[in-house]
Amino acid sequence: MADGVLQLVCECKHDPWGKQGKDSLAGRLWSHMPGAGELDASETYSEVLSFAKALPLQIHPDKGLAEHLHAVDPKKFGDTNHKPEIAIALSRFESFVGFKPLHQIAELMRLKPLEQFMPTREDFDDGALRQLCETLLSLSPDTVSETITKLQDTPMPQSGDHQHIPSLLDRLNKQYSKFDNGNLVATLLMNYMVVEPGEAVCVPADSIHAYLSGDIIECMARSDNVLNTGFCPRPDRDDVTLFAEALTFKPHSPRDSLLPSKKSAIGLKGRSIEYGPPFSEFNVLGVTLSPTETEKHRVLQSPSILVVTQGSGKMNVGDGTAHDIGEGDVYFAARDAELEMSTKTGLTLYRAYATF
Ligand SMILES: [Zn+2]
Repeated sequence: MADGVLQLVCECKHDPWGKQGKDSLAGRLWSHMPGAGELDASETYSEVLSFAKALPLQIHPDKGLAEHLHAVDPKKFGDTNHKPEIAIALSRFESFVGFKPLHQIAELMRLKPLEQFMPTREDFDDGALRQLCETLLSLSPDTVSETITKLQDTPMPQSGDHQHIPSLLDRLNKQYSKFDNGNLVATLLMNYMVVEPGEAVCVPADSIHAYLSGDIIECMARSDNVLNTGFCPRPDRDDVTLFAEALTFKPHSPRDSLLPSKKSAIGLKGRSIEYGPPFSEFNVLGVTLSPTETEKHRVLQSPSILVVTQGSGKMNVGDGTAHDIGEGDVYFAARDAELEMSTKTGLTLYRAYATF
């Protein structure tokens, strides 16, 4: 396969936050894998990601912390690498990503049920926000529940983007109970973002995030390290102080978490768009072809992985091989592989490639 492709047979995970049965795009894609079998209507299918409830509130440690954690506990933190990630929406995608602008958080914390948690520092800066985040994550289950009850009887400030907080609290309460600290951190401190299919969100290392609903293509650096502190059972949560210490505070607004996409010069027929995160370890190409359209990619100097998310067609490879491709197919393409895609009925695929 010097400059060819290799079809991969992948598993689908069954995390409790995944969508069930045929409702799960991840499940439907997986069901086309050779030997996959029927989808079970009562089972959750979670990765490529499809989720009906919030994923654990988390960060992925940067390289320095990852090396330290791996040295201390190699079983739990299996990698020494960081794990920045991007999420490209395949359906309407709701998420909590990064922290709100400081003045919006300060405004909320002046509400009666919350003022007791505000750090006693003169300026409300990122240091104070770190302290506030740690405080909220450390509250006892009863205090969390009482605070949420009081908040639901308190009118939200009219300015800022606070009007969605009561309905989000209702939803999260149903998903993880009124006792979960993640409910307060996500709704009060974090940006609530909704993006449409084709749009993407970027999560740098150490950046707080919790995906809420949708189907996405997720691409990340090679690491599986994660620190969780909410939206998961208490025994599964990592140390709150460690979590708070590791937090990064950039970006500080939803706009900065959006990952722009642009037409890619790799697509020689102009039908590929490119998602290029600023940490420049990998990019993802999105190819959408209408019936009878074709696309050809200029040869890449690095390996890539390709996932078909919709439709079917043909992929001709520079080594002379031709492959019928369809929904759910996953291919590894060697560096220097020359790929040309065509379709009679329409085709959407994503191709992630290393940019080193
Ligand atoms: Zn993550």
